[in-house]
Amino acid sequence: MNEDMMTEAERASIEADGAEIAAGERGKGVFHIHTLGCQMNVHDSERIAGVLEANGYVPATQEQIDSHDFDVIVLNTCAVRENAAERMYGTIGLFNRIKMQRPNLQIAVGGCMAQLDRETIAKRKPWVAAVFGTKNIEDLPRLLEQNRITDKPQVRVSDKLEEFPSDLPAARASRVSSWVAISVGCNNTCTFCIVPTTRGKEKDRRPGDVLAEIRRCVANGAKEVTLLGQNVNSYGYGIGDRYAFSKLLRACGDIEGLERVRFTSPHPAAFTDDVIAAMAETPNVMHQLHFPLQSGSDRILRAMRRSYRSAKFLDILGRIRAAMPDAQISTDIIVGFPGETEEDFQATLDVVRKARFSTAFMFIYSPRPGTPAASMPQIPRDVVQERFDRLVALQEEITQENMESFVGRDVEVMITGKLGKKDNDTHRVTGRERTGVLVHIGVPEGQPVPEIGDFVTVTVTHAGRHNLLADPDSAAGQTYSVRH
Ligand code: SF4
Repeated sequence: MNEDMMTEAERASIEADGAEIAAGERGKGVFHIHTLGCQMNVHDSERIAGVLEANGYVPATQEQIDSHDFDVIVLNTCAVRENAAERMYGTIGLFNRIKMQRPNLQIAVGGCMAQLDRETIAKRKPWVAAVFGTKNIEDLPRLLEQNRITDKPQVRVSDKLEEFPSDLPAARASRVSSWVAISVGCNNTCTFCIVPTTRGKEKDRRPGDVLAEIRRCVANGAKEVTLLGQNVNSYGYGIGDRYAFSKLLRACGDIEGLERVRFTSPHPAAFTDDVIAAMAETPNVMHQLHFPLQSGSDRILRAMRRSYRSAKFLDILGRIRAAMPDAQISTDIIVGFPGETEEDFQATLDVVRKARFSTAFMFIYSPRPGTPAASMPQIPRDVVQERFDRLVALQEEITQENMESFVGRDVEVMITGKLGKKDNDTHRVTGRERTGVLVHIGVPEGQPVPEIGDFVTVTVTHAGRHNLLADPDSAAGQTYSVRH
């Protein structure tokens, strides 16, 4: 997943929610974090903020961000996207323009690209104050301090995980929804993926530590947690318990006050019946699943080193749907992987037709330096683009049909943001229903305006491409009730 997959409304909701965190005085310095990439990076940025705050730094207010009135800017980088290095150096260059106006500004670079490009960042951009790896978040305050003394870039990038990032203090962006990492790294070797290089082998966090963190989140007001890992359902293999993930889901069901549990991402090869049963039988585990297909061709799956085949993928999907007919299942698909023929691509279209994913994050294959697939013969761009367009058209049709199936149904939405008033003075709020679909709600006249973290049961009146609407203007007999 990446930040592009976050809708504007969702971004707005996070900002609206996060804005409630008081910024306080200037302290040791005001900091701002710019996050690229996946939810794991968002999770890590919360830890970076937590570590800085624990060391006397203060988060920038929106006004300070807009006027570049901060003393430290942290870039949390991603290595998964195309041209990740160019993107990182381009962003550091933009930060340097701010530094020209504010010479004391310290620029720190962390995340997956810092892990990969550790040797070159400080050489290419000597005005960078600190470079820190994915396993060195807790070192950042010390690196900033040393840079202030020496005026030289400070680099700390370890390959060994000494402290699980989740065990560090966190300054969470959202009061009501929390990311909780259960593992970092990945033991798979998909030939297109750089994650095993940047994050290393999978390391599982102890279930007791995970549950203790979830309880702390709930005590601090969280109503929803998303369990995070590169491959959540191999969780526990490293600690000798192959049922650990389903047990963890069931244990979440016993946490009072925890209304919703989600997780991302599972790997289809290891998605076992005990996990399906735990999802289906634990009331606060949502029936939402991101289930990455990548390709429908067995030949390409082999070349990608994905250990399932299309028949197995569809079989697991069938079992999930039998246990949870309401499940919303999204996926990732790569088009134009090296060697992909029209026949392979047709196999992907075939699986997409059968799987009926609620949404799909579709990517044109682009080589990631350092991965095995980068050195395989590439397919001409125009061929891939044409296939990609066909896939997008098919999936959009399926997505639209899926969205329309919600119209007229009552859904329970957890409010994560306020969208302001419309021209007609209707209050508008936004949030996700139980299976993860974004719903914008127009509050009917005379009805209470819900707060962030409230649950609203409402009738869906319209289906958009990316969100549903519950609009009082056109909903005679519309359900509307608020639960705190
Ligand atoms: S399962 Fe494959 S794609 Fe996912 S993180 Fe591991 S290596 Fe990358």
